[in-house]
Amino acid sequence: MASGGGNNRNGTHRNSLKGTTTTSAASTDKPLSVNSNPSKPAFKNKSSPLTGASSGLRKSSPGSLGGGAAKDDAGVPGRVRVAVRLRPRNAEESVADADFADCVELQPELKRLKLRKNNWDTDTYEFDEVLTEFASQKRVYEVAAKPVVEGVLDGYNGTIMAYGQTGTGKTYTLGRLGEEDTANRGIMVRAMEDILAEVSPEIDSVLVSYLQLYMESLQDLLDPTNDNISIVEEPKSGDVSLPGATLVEIRDQQSFLELLRLGEAHRHAANTKLNTESSRSHALLMVHVKRTVKGREPAHSSDNGNSTSMARSLRPPLVRKGKLVVVDLAGSERIDKSGSDGHTREEAKSINLSLSALGKCINALAENSAHVPVRDSKLTRLLRDSFGGTARTSLVITVGPSPRHRGETASTIMFGQRAMKVENMLKLKEEFDYKSLARRLDIQLDKLIMEHERKQKAFEVEIERITAEAQNRISEAERNYADAVEKERLKYQKDYMESIKKLEEKWMMNQQNQGNERKMVHIAEEVAEVKKLLSKETSLRKAAEEEVDNLKSQLAQLKMSEALANSEILKLQKMVEDEVCQKEKLEGEISMLQSQLLHLSFEADETRKRLDRGGPGKVPGGLDSPVSQVRSQLKDSGNGEKASVAKLFEQVGLQKILSLLEAEDADVRIHAVKVVANLAAEETNQQKIVEAGGLKSLLMLLGSSEDETIHRVAAGAIANLAMNEKNQELIMSQGGISLLSTTASHAKDPQTLRMVAGAIANLCGNDKLQTKLRGEGGIKALLEIVKCGHPDVLAQVARGIANFAKCESRASTQGSKTGRSLLIEDGALPWIVQNANSDASPIRRHTELALCHLAQHEVNAKDMISEGALWELVRISQDCPREDIRTLAHRTLASSPDFIAGLKRLRIDY
Ligand code: ADP
Ligand code: MG
Repeated sequence: MASGGGNNRNGTHRNSLKGTTTTSAASTDKPLSVNSNPSKPAFKNKSSPLTGASSGLRKSSPGSLGGGAAKDDAGVPGRVRVAVRLRPRNAEESVADADFADCVELQPELKRLKLRKNNWDTDTYEFDEVLTEFASQKRVYEVAAKPVVEGVLDGYNGTIMAYGQTGTGKTYTLGRLGEEDTANRGIMVRAMEDILAEVSPEIDSVLVSYLQLYMESLQDLLDPTNDNISIVEEPKSGDVSLPGATLVEIRDQQSFLELLRLGEAHRHAANTKLNTESSRSHALLMVHVKRTVKGREPAHSSDNGNSTSMARSLRPPLVRKGKLVVVDLAGSERIDKSGSDGHTREEAKSINLSLSALGKCINALAENSAHVPVRDSKLTRLLRDSFGGTARTSLVITVGPSPRHRGETASTIMFGQRAMKVENMLKLKEEFDYKSLARRLDIQLDKLIMEHERKQKAFEVEIERITAEAQNRISEAERNYADAVEKERLKYQKDYMESIKKLEEKWMMNQQNQGNERKMVHIAEEVAEVKKLLSKETSLRKAAEEEVDNLKSQLAQLKMSEALANSEILKLQKMVEDEVCQKEKLEGEISMLQSQLLHLSFEADETRKRLDRGGPGKVPGGLDSPVSQVRSQLKDSGNGEKASVAKLFEQVGLQKILSLLEAEDADVRIHAVKVVANLAAEETNQQKIVEAGGLKSLLMLLGSSEDETIHRVAAGAIANLAMNEKNQELIMSQGGISLLSTTASHAKDPQTLRMVAGAIANLCGNDKLQTKLRGEGGIKALLEIVKCGHPDVLAQVARGIANFAKCESRASTQGSKTGRSLLIEDGALPWIVQNANSDASPIRRHTELALCHLAQHEVNAKDMISEGALWELVRISQDCPREDIRTLAHRTLASSPDFIAGLKRLRIDY
């Protein structure tokens, strides 16, 4: 019994219980048929049951309960079929109710039952089948049971039940053995007959258990000691099994009848023992039918037509397991609550428990209730598959005709009506019988193993035989071969001997024929050989004679060339002697020149010393360059020295003197540079010195020498050469500024610095070189030099700055220069201002001049004011001894708006 009737199950809808009213072409005794749609079960009932299954039944004729067997796994709807059977009046009733009409009236053709309420009123009910008191047992079986039995044989579970008041014929319907008259055989016997007729005893099995349920205790009717059998429900499938119950295999009808008899006897004994009647207990016959499906592949076998017989043999047999349950229920009449029949009230309740639980479940199912109290009793648990489950169920309700039991009859009818509304979902119990397959395969395997062993043995025997045979053949073949080889050998030996013999004979014959001929030929050959040797000797002699002639002429030639070579050697020896002579002469000359040079440099040193002692007072007017000083000194030192230098110049030549600048001897280098410096002091020599590469050599000396005297003298010479505009460019292009500043940075002697500053000062006076000079750090070098503080040096720096300022001023006036003075840019202004009022007049004069040049241009004004140059300009304009400068300063101050404003701010009255 399933709970929640009306739900989907296996995807199949259960047919609605309501709303379909059908008519059926029924006739008296027409069997129950699933095809014949039941009409309204009761006119009183609003709902009417509906048939579920639609297909006709295979065998049961003319109709059957439950419809055609479902062929697949999905269930098919199958309503519980209900037939009503009326018992004929018994002897007692015939007497007692003789004057009364039956309380029921049957209309089998309409499948209706009329229940008489009173004399004028009846209730009409419709059933799946209405079996009158004349209905034969055979007919009852066919319409109520056979379809179910056939279902079981096809693999469906089936239930056949009888429900009704005690004495209405339940046992008669189900359990009659028909021993006295086979026509009386009941459903159990007939069912087993059908089952046994269908199954194959070799491959199928029929197992039976027989039980009684009394007061919730399940007793084994085949083994009375087994009186409390437990019910086991498989949670997955919901199948119910009774592992404790005796299962008897039935092979023939006789053994089944015996079994039923035995069961009945046990039932009787048990009831006597329990002081009850069989009407108080439920009897359950369970028949398990297992059938192997023949000639049909399992539905899900993936047989695509090329399966081998092996594959087929490996397929487990498909079996169908159907379980038929035949239930002879306890009497449906109410047990007297008072317990008058010897039972207490509690006992009465308990006796009735299973039956009333069944009623409740059927009510719940009929009403589609959500909860079906299946678990309330053992009966309902046992029959859970029969109502609302997967089994095909047929219920026969039995009624008696007596109006005295009208109440019980009515209640039985109502039970039947409700049961008609219960829908089951019939399900095929089909499965693979792996066990039997395993058994079969085991047997097959044993057979195969045996077969294999047998074949193995045969094979081994065969192998042995073949081996022996092969051995024989091999030794035979070997023998044959040896024979053949020996034969062949003898044959060849014989042939060989014969050939040898023949050849010997031939040879003997030839020998005799050719003896004389051979001697003649031999002599002729020897003569020819001698002739050949003779001619070879002759030609060799000729060649030797030629060779001798040749050698003779070669000897004469060699003698001639030897004489020539001797005279040449004499000539060369003379030349070498001359050369030695010349060299000696030249060496003398060189030593003389060197002594002259030493003398001259001594003189030059003396001259310089005198010059240095002379002081600045002797400097003539104009820019007091060291060059002019040297020049003047040279002039002053009298004609003797000048003449000696000039003489030297003439005697030695400038080139040689310059080459001495690179002499290895340091003294020679010093003297040479002094001589060059002296020469450079003369304007007439300057051009020649430069052309001869003197300037380049001097600059090189600044870089390469570490001797300060050389630095000083070379810088002086460069300063002198730097008076010429062309030379200035050359000095600049040969990196003069950086050489001079490096020289200055290493200098310790202020005279060196004076020479360097003088050289840079000269370069500062070149308009074209302004930017380059400043770019290469010329101004910065001058400002570095001033740190030495020597007035002579400062005077040269001031001269340089004045020269630069003049050129810059000129460029600004011409418009080729814009912006602030580069002197201001390089930070020279503070020094200028500081030295503008120097005590040393050459410094003052040059700085004053520089300030005036700077003041010419308004761009410089602001810086000049901020650096304090304004005061100096005012002073210059008033105190400068040179009138032209005074005037220039005055004019500048008066014309510059910045200066005027500055003067005003400083409250200088001007
Ligand atoms: P229940 O099992 O319902 O208590 P039984 O099957 O024992 O009733 O029947 C009571 C009596 O009525 C028995 O003697 C039985 O032979 C008889 N009887 C029942 N049904 C019929 C029937 N259809 N035809 C003839 N006799 C019947
Ligand atoms: Mg009975």
